Amino acid sequence: MSVRRLADWSDTRLRRLADEYGTPLYVHDHDRVRENYRRLTGAFPDADVLYAVKANAGRHVLDTLREAGAGAECASAGELKRALDAGFAPEDVHYTPVNPPARDLDYAGDRLAGTDATVTVGSADTLDRLESRGFTGRVLVRVHPGVGAGHSAEVATGADAKFGVPRDRVHGVLADADDRGFDVRGLHAHTGSGLLTASDRDDHRTVVETLAELVAESPVALDRVDVGGGFGVPYRESEPPLDLDAVATATRDALAGLDVELAIEPGRYLVADAGVLLATVNTTKETDGDLLAGVDAGMTTLIRPALYDAYHAVRSLAPDAADRVPVPTSVVGPVCESADVLAEGRDIPRVERGDLLAVGNAGAYGVEMASTYNSRPRPAVVALAGDDERLVRRRETLADLTTHEA
Ligand SMILES: *Cc1c(COP(=O)(O)O)cnc(C)c1O
Repeated sequence: MSVRRLADWSDTRLRRLADEYGTPLYVHDHDRVRENYRRLTGAFPDADVLYAVKANAGRHVLDTLREAGAGAECASAGELKRALDAGFAPEDVHYTPVNPPARDLDYAGDRLAGTDATVTVGSADTLDRLESRGFTGRVLVRVHPGVGAGHSAEVATGADAKFGVPRDRVHGVLADADDRGFDVRGLHAHTGSGLLTASDRDDHRTVVETLAELVAESPVALDRVDVGGGFGVPYRESEPPLDLDAVATATRDALAGLDVELAIEPGRYLVADAGVLLATVNTTKETDGDLLAGVDAGMTTLIRPALYDAYHAVRSLAPDAADRVPVPTSVVGPVCESADVLAEGRDIPRVERGDLLAVGNAGAYGVEMASTYNSRPRPAVVALAGDDERLVRRRETLADLTTHEA
């Protein structure tokens, strides 16, 4: 199955999990993560697959993907620590610092100097800063391709000058890195996040073609091209899934004639549809035309709707949902912000207080972006594998909120 919809989750199992662990609750299915990984490696059989840890850095996710054979792509010292501590070998770790704070590079120097880890540098001065910390190992140069795409402007990184070296300076940075004794391996670009449509695919292809041209004319011999992540998932139930084979073909075509290893860095694609968020209805309110369902999860649990105007499917898990009349419903959280909305104007079987709702595609950038704003403790996470289940992150308590106060 190339896509798992919210309707494919067992309602009886989800109701039982909510009973047992309480809500809000993230449920994460590792069988699905493994299926997603297999599908991706099937489409890209020769590629090195590096999981983009920022999508979901939970140890349980890292363990599952490491065991499946993935490497790890890390964006910060914290992600590096979590990946290395989870047992990823340095040679399977890529560190992609963007405007890295000194403390991050200190940590990277400590853990990566003298290893076969790869650092993807997005600006010439990151080379200086790595060298002064004893790291002169494998590097990729991140290219700012000037073309971006994605589910919203906030994540179309390829178009944003913050990321990568401008095209016309790439060869200079490669030569400089080589002169300084770095093990210069290749180029990297990340078009953006949530690529789904044929037009996104064209943008991706344009970015890979840019990399290919730069490799072909490079002053330093290169043997690796990392095309980043961004493989999208359909958040709307009516959206077709990503045509992965078409993306793989476009990628291969763009690299035709070059003798390079390909690396990809999927985050969302591996974990998004492996997760759902469960929430309980606290209050209901009739408004003009819309029923408001106030639930115990909100923008502090899942910020994507508030931050990106992202769409997440919502399903009623009320045992008698099939007998209720669907009415336009907005699902809102308990935070004092108008942005605190999970879904707007959805036809949902008329909700009642105490009902359980499931929010789909919550496995990526869900718990990872959770905050304690409004002094709201973060939710629990339960992981499933076959019939087994395990609490992998306990629910935070009110006492946890002040543990760092000095
Ligand atoms: C965020 C990011 C990814 C993963 O993006 P997804 O959309 O989750 O696949 C991969 N590589 C880099 C450099 C990133 O910043």
